[in-house]
Amino acid sequence: MTTAPIVVRKYGGSSVADLDRLRRIADALGSVAQAGHPLVVVVSAMGKTTSELIALAEQAGSAGGADELPRRELDMLVSTGERVTMALLSIILHGLGQRAVSFTGSQSGIITTDTHFDARVVEVRPHRLERALSEGRIAIVAGYQGMSRSGEITTLGRGGSDTSAVALAGALRAECCEIYSDVDGVYTSDPNRVREALHLPWIGYDFMAAMADAGARVLNREAVRLARQRGTRILARSSFDQAAVPRETQVTSDSAAPARRALVELVEAVRLSGPLDSWAAFVEATTSLDLALPETRRDRTHWHAWIKHDNESLTKLERHARHELSIHRGLSLVSLVGSAASDTPAAAALLAGYCEHVFTAPLRASALMTPARARALVPELHHRWIQPHPTSPPGPTFLPHTSIQPLSRH
Ligand code: ASP
Ligand code: MG
Repeated sequence: MTTAPIVVRKYGGSSVADLDRLRRIADALGSVAQAGHPLVVVVSAMGKTTSELIALAEQAGSAGGADELPRRELDMLVSTGERVTMALLSIILHGLGQRAVSFTGSQSGIITTDTHFDARVVEVRPHRLERALSEGRIAIVAGYQGMSRSGEITTLGRGGSDTSAVALAGALRAECCEIYSDVDGVYTSDPNRVREALHLPWIGYDFMAAMADAGARVLNREAVRLARQRGTRILARSSFDQAAVPRETQVTSDSAAPARRALVELVEAVRLSGPLDSWAAFVEATTSLDLALPETRRDRTHWHAWIKHDNESLTKLERHARHELSIHRGLSLVSLVGSAASDTPAAAALLAGYCEHVFTAPLRASALMTPARARALVPELHHRWIQPHPTSPPGPTFLPHTSIQPLSRH
């Protein structure tokens, strides 16, 4: 038995997209295990597998003329994506002479609610993982999935492998949860779209949760919520980083983290509006949707709300709240996010100078616009929102457990 701290590490879909990348990950894991760390590795499905499986289910659904896809069967299908990765990684590790063993979510003791396709973790009993670790094995876990109390396989919502990793890190009392993807952490805006975006080395849970609610996909919102609940530190890194000390973002308690601001653009947002007296019907039809905020400024006869584009929810909405509901697809939702309560009114005031309807929520304000308008406006809004708050110094140094082998992108 070793006394080195447990390492819980998660790899996202692009990091495990093919056998070559899995092989490089296996090499890096070998060094962590060699250093004596008990190691739990949570994996996503390879590349775009999950989306492909969902598309396949939709085809099967229309072939059978189904109105709605049976969510239990969807879970049976999409949970296989991560199982492919876990088994392949374990096979590679065996070939390298490592003692590895793979587990599904349910074998790992992840107990969830019974809401198929969007379940929440309610309890984690990682007995089998603990046993594997005490036997000196590397435990590989299929992310994104668990089991309900009645023994049904469930999945945790898109991007849910982060949630699996954070839940396991909490239950195993690991000192942190390392999340490897194709980006080296969190920026003030998407660096692929905003040239001036600044890397944020250290942020708080609430700030990150507000960014995730606004549509940032860098970390899963449910994972951030669980991390805050358990006080688990998240380290977000890139598995492609070439540096000896990789760049990262640490997500820790808000009281410790410096003041932060960010701009998030969610593409594929949908605007919904209707007369005030249809609000109740709308709210009832949206219980399973991500977010719908009433907007009361200026227009007193209609409510306005937004949701992330999702065919299933839209079909349901059209069916339930059919009369007088207007639906406008293909919009961009631009959100200004901050880490202080006073940032919300400041963000709303800035957005109101450009847009008619502003939605507010804790730590952020958002507005819908056409993608073309967003393209023109985002750099200016980023400049005006972020520049008055230059990034503060990085958080405490926390070195990775090993210098991971960078993955080649080709
Ligand atoms: N494979 C799942 C998805 O693509 C879960 C994850 O990657 O975290 O949403
Ligand atoms: Mg994925």
